[in-house]
Amino acid sequence: MPLDFSALNQRQSDSFVAQKTLLKKLMLGKTCLCDSCKQALSVKFDEQAGIAYVKCKRGCTELQLEFGR
Ligand SMILES: [Zn+2]
Repeated sequence: MPLDFSALNQRQSDSFVAQKTLLKKLMLGKTCLCDSCKQALSVKFDEQAGIAYVKCKRGCTELQLEFGR
């Protein structure tokens, strides 16, 4: 059975775009809410690694996002 990767790739790029948008908002100091629990997301920037750690209080959202320069 051939595997259909196109749907998967589409989903991944959708969430990639969503994460980029989220990161942009967070970097501007805007409040973003967790999709699941609707609590405010907190973000911690590791400038040296170029990674932003995003999470909500309950832990249903835990993202590591790279931010380019
Ligand atoms: Zn949450």
